[in-house]
Amino acid sequence: KPFEVHIQAEPLTRFEGELDAAGWSALQAQAARTRASMAGRTFWNVSSTARGGGVAEMLPWLLAYARGAGVDARWVVLTGTPEFFHITKRLHHALHGSRGDGSPLGKAEHDRYDEVLRDNVEELLVMVRPGDVVLLHDPQTVGLAPALARAGARVAWRCHVGRDTPNDEVARAWEFLAPGLAAARLTVFSRAAYVPPQCADRAVIIQPSIDIFAVKNQPLAPGAVRAILAYTGLLRGEPDAPEPAFTRADGVPARVSRGADIVRLGAAPAPDTPLLVQVSRWDPLKDPAGVLEGFALLLRQSPDLRAELVLAGPAVTSVADDPEAATTLQDVIALWQQQPHFVRQHVHLACLPMGDLEENAAIVNALQRHAAVVTQKSLQEGFGLTLTEAMWKTRPVVASAVGGLQDQVVHGVNGLLVRDPGDRAEFAGAVRSLLADPQRAARLGLQAREHVRAHFTAARHLTDFARLLEQLDA
Ligand code: UDP
Repeated sequence: KPFEVHIQAEPLTRFEGELDAAGWSALQAQAARTRASMAGRTFWNVSSTARGGGVAEMLPWLLAYARGAGVDARWVVLTGTPEFFHITKRLHHALHGSRGDGSPLGKAEHDRYDEVLRDNVEELLVMVRPGDVVLLHDPQTVGLAPALARAGARVAWRCHVGRDTPNDEVARAWEFLAPGLAAARLTVFSRAAYVPPQCADRAVIIQPSIDIFAVKNQPLAPGAVRAILAYTGLLRGEPDAPEPAFTRADGVPARVSRGADIVRLGAAPAPDTPLLVQVSRWDPLKDPAGVLEGFALLLRQSPDLRAELVLAGPAVTSVADDPEAATTLQDVIALWQQQPHFVRQHVHLACLPMGDLEENAAIVNALQRHAAVVTQKSLQEGFGLTLTEAMWKTRPVVASAVGGLQDQVVHGVNGLLVRDPGDRAEFAGAVRSLLADPQRAARLGLQAREHVRAHFTAARHLTDFARLLEQLDA
């Protein structure tokens, strides 16, 4: 059965201090128009997991601000069988152009997929009324579109993934998704290059964004950063460290109370050791193995380098729609075990506790703030929220020149792009150049924050949402 995740309204007034006068009055005017046009109707969002990954990251606060603007925005999470999530993970890979585990996407798989969605849609049809707007997220949900559209809802589908140069796998995924897709009035993509031909006449581009007021992005004093990381086990503790404290979304102070599960050979890094950090789900497309190998190459090239690597991701059992996490993590651990002693001493694999999402966010926040360099070395990436989070924190970044990462990083201006994601030497060189020149790294970091402010905050995203709702009514 699908379940609704309760969302508390957040006031739009938070943005008053962030926007200039014209921007603030435009946002208010837009909110008033949307409030009027959506009066008596609900704006439903349907996705496939309540935690883990970019969609689950964005929806809670985006919808909270929509509610704050007076729109009845709601979030429903569908449920599925392990078999269903295996098929949808395969689709996710295919949309990135990758074969995944190579399992078939034929009629039998389509029947399984439809079966699970039929069970979900029964419940959804009790909630959704004619005239409501339903925004479906990612391949897991697109098959819900026909039944919802028949019931009189205005259905749009948002695809958060994609590949710049479509291949046979991408075509296979679109073929699988076509029957559901046909019922969507509009489709939303993160980049123009991701739009398939069958959506060209009804595609809208909306880039993701981060909530600059979230626990994950709240300012943290350097002492708090060190204390949180020491408590989590990611830094060597200091005897006089302050409490590992952060502020919850409701304004209440809290402390980090759970350690991470860490694979490492030696002690945790000392507080002054520069860290290279990647925070990602354990997914082969995030290329944790490539980060490890690239960093190992860097260590071999510069044996005196004073830097350590932290690869962090969610505790593997926590992400409902990602059945691959455990094996990906095992593969990374196996690779780590094969490394020479001195490499293993410099590399830490951390599974962050997910039992309390705000606590998890505080740890990610501290880790990103503490990093000397943040990387997102993905082989494919629709849009990398982790990178935007790090850029907001003025971190110098190294990202692969793939997908949405190319819209986030302007090479040499607000970070560095690695042209060939498979080229370990190019990656190692980019990381080395930032570690060796902290002044340049700091300049890039300041530009990074301004780029996020201009393009990737909730104010821009909410305006795009409002336009989407208008277009669905047109
Ligand atoms: N994330 C997290 N804890 C983790 C790993 C990731 O909170 O242990 C968050 C991360 O901060 C980001 C999101 O999950 O907000 C991942 O989004 P991204 O767009 O980078 O990748 P996706 O998982 O959607 O492919």
